[in-house]
Amino acid sequence: MGRESTHRSRPAWLLGALAALAITVVAITGVFMAVLGADVGCVGGGGSAQAAPTRTAKQEIAPWKLKLYRAAAKRFDIEWAFLASIGYQECGNGACREINPSGCGGAMQIAVVRGSACSPDPSVPTLWERYGVDADGDGTASITSPADSIYTGARILRPVMGAPRTGGSYAAYRQAACNYYGACAYAGVSYADEVMARAVQYGFRGAGSPKPSDPAGAVPATGAVPGGCGAPAVSGGLGGAKRVKGPAELKALPPDITPGTPESCDSRIVADVIYLARRFGQVVTDCFGLGHTPDGEHPLGAAIDAAPKDGNWANTIRLARAVGWDPACAASGVRPDCADPPFRFIGYNGYASHGDPAHCVPCTGGPHIHISWQTSASPGMPENTSLYSYRPATWIEVLAGKGNR
Ligand SMILES: [Zn+2]
Repeated sequence: MGRESTHRSRPAWLLGALAALAITVVAITGVFMAVLGADVGCVGGGGSAQAAPTRTAKQEIAPWKLKLYRAAAKRFDIEWAFLASIGYQECGNGACREINPSGCGGAMQIAVVRGSACSPDPSVPTLWERYGVDADGDGTASITSPADSIYTGARILRPVMGAPRTGGSYAAYRQAACNYYGACAYAGVSYADEVMARAVQYGFRGAGSPKPSDPAGAVPATGAVPGGCGAPAVSGGLGGAKRVKGPAELKALPPDITPGTPESCDSRIVADVIYLARRFGQVVTDCFGLGHTPDGEHPLGAAIDAAPKDGNWANTIRLARAVGWDPACAASGVRPDCADPPFRFIGYNGYASHGDPAHCVPCTGGPHIHISWQTSASPGMPENTSLYSYRPATWIEVLAGKGNR
């Protein structure tokens, strides 16, 4: 569901405007066709060596797609990690064979329908008409072919979107991401920053690149990645769990871990929350709350949403791993694979609308980690029900050790 909303939210008409601009440039100067001609003949690429895919890249990108991104990037001499990140932003992990109502379509969401929102002027050929590549060799450039779409996306990046060659800087590629989107930010979402953060996580190392958000996942994958799994989960060693029954009431968190509007949790988890937030440098942005899943742990005061206090998401991934999460189980997020007792559910990178800025795409509610404690009223338990006001669970599991209570 999320992917559609990602590309529909893009002001795709601007792509059409860009195409029109490109046509104008061609008409006035004749330079564009020369550039394009050079690109078409550029088989094998001419720039620096391409970065090796990282563990995260191998986890997130299907092997057939990874192969296409790398081959297309090599042919048109751009960074494959950048191309793949644009592709993920536009289409997620799917094949995206459809044309959407705005007139863009395919794996790279390229303008394909004349006179549509994506390509408003019916007298101007679309980007697809001008640049479409028959990469799968069936005799026609087809928007429904992932190979044709990905090659065409790679082909337009340098001449139309201004992407640099392989080896170009972070800033230059970021500008190309802005151009691909039609703007640098829209509706509060920084498309370019999300694309670049993911490209770095996939292995992009152009000059000026920040550190990857998940260093453990951003190392080159050597050979096969066992079970699609990244670095082995670090055992949290948080000391196991115990059940507690009282006092069953809401209690405010201290201001150092919940700046701004203070948050309250069920008093039984407050010591755990303070311990985790301080140890891993997090602020708690929500605990007890009714604006969440009504049969989850937020209305019980037994779940937190958190984000790094200093903006360093590497601390948040350390927290995620400490409570039992790892990338291989992220899609479910639940015990026993993805949460060690006392925790029941972790929502982080790989779970919809959760995770760091590179992974929370689309991102209702903003980047964050969610941690639920196991309670007698959690999903799957007899007491579980939808709540519209605070009603404490009979018992909650909490950390047994650490001397923090
Ligand atoms: Zn939450």
